[in-house]
Amino acid sequence: MSCIFCEISSGNAPASFVYNDKHVYAIMSLEQPNPYKVLVIPHAHIENIYDLNDQLAASIFQVTAKIARAIRDASSCDGLNIVQSNGEAGQQDVFHFHLHLVPRFTNDKITFAWDNTPSSRDVLDQLSKEIAENLH
Ligand SMILES: [Zn+2]
Repeated sequence: MSCIFCEISSGNAPASFVYNDKHVYAIMSLEQPNPYKVLVIPHAHIENIYDLNDQLAASIFQVTAKIARAIRDASSCDGLNIVQSNGEAGQQDVFHFHLHLVPRFTNDKITFAWDNTPSSRDVLDQLSKEIAENLH
């Protein structure tokens, strides 16, 4: 099964590189909803966040912070979102882990919409307990 991010990693598909090291690379996103949108991607074919080991997760986020600062300085953006999707229900499109760095400009047309109604403390305490019990 061919994977576009593996193809780019091995030099078999074109991309506009922003950064490249032994473990992680960053390229311009094909879609530019705002200019300077970048993808940060591990070279290894890892499907989603659940399969990242600690060392690679740390490397990816170190590169992400570095690239975010460079996007800010290059674009003079007013803000920046990091979007990372897992699973079809999470709107993952390419099943090779990647982070979207989306520069934001005041009054741009990008929206992230969800219900911002605060939950009760009882619900929050129960949910936090269930997640904490599954940390390992
Ligand atoms: Zn891949």
